[in-house]
Amino acid sequence: MARYTGPVCRLCRRGGQKLFLKGTRCMGPKCAVERHNIPPGQSGTGKMSQRRPSDYALQLREKQQLKAIYGMLERPLRRLVRRAERMSGVAGENLLQLLERRLDNVVHRSGFATSRAQARHWVRHRHFSVNGHTVDIPSYCVRPGDVVEVREGFRTSPQLVAAIATTGGAGTLSWLLCDVSLFRVEIIGTPQREDIDAPIAEQVVMEFYSR
Ligand code: SF4
Repeated sequence: MARYTGPVCRLCRRGGQKLFLKGTRCMGPKCAVERHNIPPGQSGTGKMSQRRPSDYALQLREKQQLKAIYGMLERPLRRLVRRAERMSGVAGENLLQLLERRLDNVVHRSGFATSRAQARHWVRHRHFSVNGHTVDIPSYCVRPGDVVEVREGFRTSPQLVAAIATTGGAGTLSWLLCDVSLFRVEIIGTPQREDIDAPIAEQVVMEFYSR
């Protein structure tokens, strides 16, 4: 189960916006976008950076930002795009919906982890269960009616306690019924576009994949 292991702040600087990939650091003054918001590498300050980007460059950047936000690699994302196209409704919104339903995203959005990367790490270490069964697959796609719980042995972990204190528990999401005190979250619907806070123009991503 591969994942991107390079410098993540670079990904934010490339797009010129905060993608909140590092949890608490993203809120503080150490955030790289806050300190020096220029594209990484030599081209960041050179004449190339002054040029108006082509349509292809804009589509590519949007797709790369989406990959960075959800911690995806190219091939699994491409598979999800094909699946989103086969579903009824708007393909771009279907894609975001499928990404939101990933188990690592649910753990993060429920307030149990400060970032998707942290959530992914904990899922891989078998700290979460779905409907009573341990699931260690971050890409596991939850459905309405599923119940995700923190496993018994991890509930007193200082890292989990700190993460919950930082996030303050669940936000106001219409599709998640979260009870942090019981360490459980129930999936009560499917994510709507207004519930998804990713700063992404999903249609542009779909245009990239339909070239
Ligand atoms: Fe992005 Fe967070 Fe790094 Fe800031 S601290 S550049 S938001 S990953």
